[in-house]
Amino acid sequence: MTTTRRDFLAAAVTAAGAAVTPELAHAQEHDHDHGHDHQVVPSDPALRVKALESLLVEKGLVDRAALDALIDTYEHKVGPRNGARVVARAWSDSAYKQRLLSSPDAAIAELGYGGLQGEHMVVVENTPKVHNLVVCTLCSCYPWPVLGLPPVWYKSTAYRSRAVIDPRGVLREFGLELGDDIEVRVWDSTAELRYLVLPERPAATEKMSEEELAALVTRDSMVGVGKVTLQAQGARA
Ligand code: FE
Repeated sequence: MTTTRRDFLAAAVTAAGAAVTPELAHAQEHDHDHGHDHQVVPSDPALRVKALESLLVEKGLVDRAALDALIDTYEHKVGPRNGARVVARAWSDSAYKQRLLSSPDAAIAELGYGGLQGEHMVVVENTPKVHNLVVCTLCSCYPWPVLGLPPVWYKSTAYRSRAVIDPRGVLREFGLELGDDIEVRVWDSTAELRYLVLPERPAATEKMSEEELAALVTRDSMVGVGKVTLQAQGARA
């Protein structure tokens, strides 16, 4: 089944309503009630996008086919599967892991990934004592070549502010309870630097192939809002 851009926009609208946890949603409402922060998801982003697109096409500023190709690329060809392959390679090959941590751009390019919104990568490694969490407090900077397009919650005002103020609370809402002995490091992405979390390899995966390992790695684990487990498949929208 082929997903069209129209489906994609419709899904984005649904995700905008469904993906934000109740607490984050409440925080957004709170902001809105007080009228001092209106960076919430628009009530109907699909309509706004459609209106903008129609206007730009009408004025001859963009080509509809080129737009479709661009969206299709980031929806189907670029996405968290790429990052998962990077992580699985690092778990399987210690020399690669060292290159990934010391020269991330070159190591990621070894697997064929790179380009727009991923030119200057930093890879941070989770360990039994350190948990890394990525946010963009200013807007929504995100490593497109390895993770695809950012999820709605990543762009929400609530996540962007609370990830810094109360990272443990945010992680708890994502279902991740960290002990006090684990240091939480929060990394603020910018247009210049984008982060990829190298999650911990789960136990009892020694016999797994790189491909099998990659299938376990979720997007959330590479942003730092989740861990990789043997059960983890897919990711929330
Ligand atoms: Fe940003």
